[in-house]
Amino acid sequence: MKKDESNLIRIQTEKSQNREHSTPIYMTSSFTFNNAEQGRALFSEEEEGNIYSRFSNPNTSEFIDKMVSLENAEDGFAFASGMAAVFAGFASFLKSGDHVVATRALFGSTHQILTQLLPRWGITSTYLDTKNSDAWENAIQSNTKMMFVETPSNPGLDLVDLEFASLLAEKHNLILHVDNTFATPLIQKPIELGADLVSHSATKYIDGQGRTIGGIIVGRKDLIKEVRFFARQTGPSLSPFNSWLLSKSLETLPVRVEKHCSNALQLATALEKDPELLWVKYPHLSSHPQYSLAKKQMKLGGGIVTINVNGGFERAKKFIDSVKMASLTANLGDTRTIVTHPASTTHSKLTDEERELVGISPGLIRISVGLEDIDDITNDIRQALEGSKG
Ligand SMILES: *Cc1c(COP(=O)(O)O)cnc(C)c1O
Repeated sequence: MKKDESNLIRIQTEKSQNREHSTPIYMTSSFTFNNAEQGRALFSEEEEGNIYSRFSNPNTSEFIDKMVSLENAEDGFAFASGMAAVFAGFASFLKSGDHVVATRALFGSTHQILTQLLPRWGITSTYLDTKNSDAWENAIQSNTKMMFVETPSNPGLDLVDLEFASLLAEKHNLILHVDNTFATPLIQKPIELGADLVSHSATKYIDGQGRTIGGIIVGRKDLIKEVRFFARQTGPSLSPFNSWLLSKSLETLPVRVEKHCSNALQLATALEKDPELLWVKYPHLSSHPQYSLAKKQMKLGGGIVTINVNGGFERAKKFIDSVKMASLTANLGDTRTIVTHPASTTHSKLTDEERELVGISPGLIRISVGLEDIDDITNDIRQALEGSKG
């Protein structure tokens, strides 16, 4: 285990007089002042310390400290959900008249924020074609302030070269914001490649056990100062209990991610030649169109495998109904294997044309590979392919 990964276990809130081994949960809405002078000093930020749990809380600070260490960032702020983090990443920096460039294949709610909500406040956006990086520069306008990137994409597993994106962002003086939910910092650290802000849905691999919603942004100190100002006033903060849960979850993140990835690689390899599939996509399979970038940028291939069943929409639905062990749910990054049919669920709001543009064919199935025995996972997928025939 590397030092930043050991920090996931070692970083801990100072012990109380009870000398507890595991951090207790600080279920308190506010914190007392020893006297009037301390109240003044805390509010004027002359003294550092907790005031009110909308601003900070020991459990939340512990979770943030671990994520900051893991992403090699300077500072962070934790949110009640991944979407609250993503939205704060926009709202803290953009004003009427500003413009955003973003990769097209985005998480559904991020797409809705860019296309439905930000325009209400006069903020526009343009999608970038990840397959044609030469066109990126043309999308940048004189009023562009931010570049928003997801890599690998959901569910198409297309990659963006983060070094290329950060050079372009630097050249045009844009804030580069990367949603690193799919990869986790154990697979790629966007800040080391030049990103300014990194957000996560902690709901996914960080909790990884299907128990809570949560989110975080980490990044440069001066930028997080703006995020903190926005969040302290508007109140999307993570609760003490969920912070405690997520901080605890981080202690096992390295071993979980390693197992998710080795199971996913084995499943992808086993399915690659299956005649019932039109294709299998996984970043660390040599057949992935961006295999060399995947090897350069991602330490492991991730926990998601996408397959395209031969037989389109109807076959895909039959496949979903034939699965026995895997869960049918819209989450991902969980200990349990999950199968999802994006065209009829997570991406059903997109038009056929929009789905085509982001590579979501009617037969595409997203498999979030869990921590079960790999033979059980492979057998379940194989028997569902068999059971959905004809
Ligand atoms: C799930 C997800 C989100 C949203 O996070 P919530 O915790 O559900 O609010 C954002 N980005 C990506 C890539 C996600 O997978």
